[in-house]
Amino acid sequence: MAKKIVAANWKMNLLKSEAIRLYEEMGEMLPENDVEVAVFSPSIFLSELIAYQSNRLAIGAQNFFNEEKGAYTGEISASQLKDLGCSYVLVGHSERRVLFYEPDELIQKKVKAALDIGLKVIYCCGESLEERESHTQQLKISSQLEILKSFTPNELDGLAIAYEPIWAIGTGLTASPQQAEQMHQFIREELTKSFSSEFSNSISLLYGGRCNEQNANELFQCPNIDGGLIGG
Ligand code: PEP
Repeated sequence: MAKKIVAANWKMNLLKSEAIRLYEEMGEMLPENDVEVAVFSPSIFLSELIAYQSNRLAIGAQNFFNEEKGAYTGEISASQLKDLGCSYVLVGHSERRVLFYEPDELIQKKVKAALDIGLKVIYCCGESLEERESHTQQLKISSQLEILKSFTPNELDGLAIAYEPIWAIGTGLTASPQQAEQMHQFIREELTKSFSSEFSNSISLLYGGRCNEQNANELFQCPNIDGGLIGG
């Protein structure tokens, strides 16, 4: 069975005192259950939050570079994040793909660098509005899943996938539970074809895109939705 995960992507928001307060409040509000809750904070706050770390609230980085060390001004490596105490990273978020022109080749190297060092990866995929309107969303998602085929199931231990339709991120639009479930089921089938049903069923598939207190209950009841990646 895939683990249930709910993750918060704070993006480039919050000042230090606000980040610490929110993190503490989240820790206090966590119900007793086996859902993994992770916070993806701006990197500058990571060590501060890790100092407050409660076992139940995992901490992740929103970005890093795939090389281990060297002359890469401004960058942070996966091993530096691991050493700091992070347990998760996001890879392939649409904002990194679109605004920062991250190509599949780089994204594949990032997945490898993170998993090799023992960080858990939430790998994001999703189609644009044009792709949804031209009914090519499944083609887009399977092309984004291609990079995973270079790994063995063992190498992908620690992987979760977030389906985030770009047209529903920060726009106020949301995929209906039916649309989200349909795509999650498609992702599950693609993973079965590329690997095995055992592997596919073990991967947590999260929905992202205007997931909130109004629709989370319905979304999370869909059989192939194992949680959410939530920005807003
Ligand atoms: C995201 O960017 O990961 C996201 C899901 O954003 P929002 O919840 O704001 O749509």
